[in-house]
Amino acid sequence: MKQPNETIHVDLLVEPDNIGDARHIRAAALAKAGLEDDGLVAVRVVRRSIDARAKMPRFQLRVAVGAEAGPVSVFQPQALGERRAVVVGAGPGGYFAALTLLEAGIKPVLLERGRDVRARLKDVKKIYSEGLVNPHSNYCFGEGGAGTYSDGKLYTRATKRGDTDRILDLFVAFGASADIRVDAHPHLGSNVLPRLVRGMREAIVASGGEIHFEAHVTDLVLDSGRACGVRLAGGETVTGDAVILATGHSARDVYDLLLRRGVLLEAKPFALGVRIEHPQDLVDRMFYHHSPRHAALPAASYRLACQTAERGVFSFCMCPGGFVVPASTAPGELVLNGMSLASRKAPFANAGLVAEVRPSDVPGDDALALLRFQAEVEQTMFRAGDGRTQRAPAQRAEDFLQGRMSTNLGATSYIPGIYAAPVHELLPGFVTRALREGLAILGKKHKGFDSSEATLLAVESRTSSPVRIPRDRETFMHPQVPGLFPCGEGAGYAGGIVSAAMDGVAVAAAVERELK
Ligand SMILES: Cc1cc2nc3c(=O)[nH]c(=O)nc-3n(C[C@H](O)[C@H](O)[C@H](O)COP(=O)(O)OP(=O)(O)OC[C@H]3O[C@@H](n4cnc5c(N)ncnc54)[C@H](O)[C@@H]3O)c2cc1C
Repeated sequence: MKQPNETIHVDLLVEPDNIGDARHIRAAALAKAGLEDDGLVAVRVVRRSIDARAKMPRFQLRVAVGAEAGPVSVFQPQALGERRAVVVGAGPGGYFAALTLLEAGIKPVLLERGRDVRARLKDVKKIYSEGLVNPHSNYCFGEGGAGTYSDGKLYTRATKRGDTDRILDLFVAFGASADIRVDAHPHLGSNVLPRLVRGMREAIVASGGEIHFEAHVTDLVLDSGRACGVRLAGGETVTGDAVILATGHSARDVYDLLLRRGVLLEAKPFALGVRIEHPQDLVDRMFYHHSPRHAALPAASYRLACQTAERGVFSFCMCPGGFVVPASTAPGELVLNGMSLASRKAPFANAGLVAEVRPSDVPGDDALALLRFQAEVEQTMFRAGDGRTQRAPAQRAEDFLQGRMSTNLGATSYIPGIYAAPVHELLPGFVTRALREGLAILGKKHKGFDSSEATLLAVESRTSSPVRIPRDRETFMHPQVPGLFPCGEGAGYAGGIVSAAMDGVAVAAAVERELK
């Protein structure tokens, strides 16, 4: 038997019955590595995913055998110098930019239109209890940004855009379970995210940064064409050596203010459709080929895509064991999204099922044409209801395919409630055509996906920003406005928590280069 001089990685397939048995995993890993157990060799799981191809799903583990990695300090703020940057928006883009600025000795002054994470929860609850959408504090606006009351999925395909491991390390440093460094598809859950967000805020303030809530930015302050600050709704100005604009994809007034200032914007393709909801049992059957699932297995999830005659159709932000939520950001509109708790134990699974929308699909060729289209669809969905609450129009998938109203609807996780409506007529024709074709294709592959057990709720429209704020590839500054750094999802450079966080890191590094 050999002894390890360095860390060896081995891959194991482990039955659900054994996944909680550390001794079993240790013995299997050492046997596979050809090592005897002297009681000293460190064995740790570094990657965990599920192999659902077999009849009974199994866990696929990558296990490191050998020297234990020592703890590393991931957040290292420096003494602050004279320089300061205004950061607009306390979502993942803004918060990770602020953390990175502090590590460069630059003081971040963070301005957030919404309320802190605790007060924000009260506003979110009012959407349910009173049907009231506060335009500054809701599922998209407020401390932590759009992802705070979400599923908290922490994976991204944009791995080339930055260091995903560092983002996950920072989340762990602020209190996330170390499991997120191991799971192939890590997630946090709505009940965990607020605590992490608060931890980040406390670290930013303790390191000399400033955070101001209910600070609604309504204008840019320019000095000889260079961004040197912002103006708030109350009239006061906040100045800095750079302005990072990380306001997310729902801040429509920010695009308006930029246009008013003559700042160049571009229309950007996005996607629109419905939330599709199934009983979780059915999703387990479809993707684990098995129900009820083994107690050690997480609720099954999926990520689907297909090509229809005209355009791509794909699932978006799938929330196993989760809830459909009202994510509107203004009165008079209806927008749906999804979230889950860490345990993902709710009896429903939901996901966006959306079709691509391109500039050529909508009237107008200006930068905001797609945004107007998005807003009109959301308002149509609101008006289709009682005109007061966030109740959502819904249709069984089978009826959507047949073009008929549902005579009744199944149970749903959507707390404001659903009512039977001709969703196929309420959606734009080209979206209905694509979703019908896409549903049929996906239903052929996954039995039950397009059945009467699936409910379609409208509308899923905030998949990504329909506008891009251009920036230079090297400097990350707007080509017309030096000092202005568009950042994150609202600027069109991210889609999701981790990619927005990575963009915040990249933009803060660009600010540091610029201010040197
Ligand atoms: C319900 C829901 C569930 C989601 N689930 C997931 C998920 O599971 N995984 C995932 O990766 N992504 C998820 N997302 C998407 C994810 O939240 C976003 O991609 C991400 O938050 C974008 O980060 P950001 O920092 O670019 O912008 P945002 O998070 O949108 O933050 C922008 C911030 O700017 C503030 N702001 C806007 N305008 C102004 C202004 N004028 N003045 C001052 N402040 C302003 C807003 O209040 C907001 O807090 C979800 C989104 C929602 C709504």
